[in-house]
Amino acid sequence: MPQAKLIRLASELFHSGMDYWRDTPDLPPLTGMTLDQDDAEIARGWLRRPAEWNDLSGVTAFEQSFAQWNGSRSAFALSAGRKALSACIHALELKPGDEVIVPGYTCVVVQNAFDFAGVSTVYCDIELDTFGPEAQSIASRITPRTKAILLHHLYGLVCRDYEAILKLAREGRLKVIEDCAHATGARFRDRRVGTYGDVAFYSCEWSKVFTTIVGGVAVTNDPRLAERMKQFTANCGWPAPAAVDEQLRTVIRAFLQAKAGARWWALPWARFVHGIHDTVSTSDAEMEGRRPEDYFTRMPAPAAELGQNQLRKLDRYNEARRQAAAKWDGWCDGQGLRKPLVLAESQPVFLRYPVLVDPKRKRDTNWAKRELKVNPGVWFKTHLHPSARPVTGCPNADRAVAECINFPCLPMPAL
Ligand SMILES: *Cc1c(COP(=O)(O)O)cnc(C)c1O
Repeated sequence: MPQAKLIRLASELFHSGMDYWRDTPDLPPLTGMTLDQDDAEIARGWLRRPAEWNDLSGVTAFEQSFAQWNGSRSAFALSAGRKALSACIHALELKPGDEVIVPGYTCVVVQNAFDFAGVSTVYCDIELDTFGPEAQSIASRITPRTKAILLHHLYGLVCRDYEAILKLAREGRLKVIEDCAHATGARFRDRRVGTYGDVAFYSCEWSKVFTTIVGGVAVTNDPRLAERMKQFTANCGWPAPAAVDEQLRTVIRAFLQAKAGARWWALPWARFVHGIHDTVSTSDAEMEGRRPEDYFTRMPAPAAELGQNQLRKLDRYNEARRQAAAKWDGWCDGQGLRKPLVLAESQPVFLRYPVLVDPKRKRDTNWAKRELKVNPGVWFKTHLHPSARPVTGCPNADRAVAECINFPCLPMPAL
């Protein structure tokens, strides 16, 4: 269909040129904000070398860099954060009949990881200061079958009840899984988050604080658990070449989309050359709780090199996010809105800046686009986002579902 492709190119160039000329381009997306020209060049280079996509040496190098940077003993790179969670579940030897306490305000892929392992989940409520699991609620959910607690640091905030939850786990001899999907690089006291629990996982999906479009890392400080994570990762296959090809082309488009400074013809041209099919992180099957075929895959070499490059820039980007959050603090003060809590002795990374607003303002966020010139996120629209599977008995989570919107912290808001 070269003709259709050319017509699309002409139309895209026209609209892109109009936006440029009117100086009112679309609002920045919520994805790929840490991708730069150098990342796009890495992706272009790998597109020419498919024979090397399954080369382990670069992947091992990334795992070592991540572990060192994070202050973890071992790290294992997989093709998504949700698969890194599966590596954590395998490491902890959680089995059918075991229960894990999970916040009733999370992504459906977290629930899926437990379902795929046959492990039962019990939902606890969250608090509305940092949207983390509430220690009291966790305590009320513990049964003789409870084996582990999953805590998360949502929006890049270090969760309010961090220490209380770690203490509960110690006292009950329960394992702690840290979901650091939003919080890569955040600190508590002298360490990064994810180094306090038994195991943790991070995400470099394209809406997260650093990105390889899809990808994730599992970590642990325990040599015995590391051995099991290693075994899990080694048993994973490599992603299909078509998937890696699509991932690399998505890097190029996502960079051009995210950086306002890109030339007006660059994105239409990239779509002409590389196509328009972006990598989908959650398939329809996963949304419905089914495991896709060839699901458990490791991180391929091109993503590992992108991950290395992103890691080098991550602390700098996270600092920029904190500066943006200070602007949002000022905006909240002006609006009389409650600011998210920055836990004492913590340094968050503000993937997003969460606020509770009138439910009407969550259902339709056009007001923010008009008044604030930002595209607010709506994580999470449901308790097991974005699936409609019900969660009951979590009133604070109900409120966050209805009222929590979250502002981007990259680029700097023009407040
Ligand atoms: C994105 C996300 C995950 C999963 O990460 P993927 O890399 O997309 O698999 C897990 N937990 C939370 C809270 C997330 O937002």
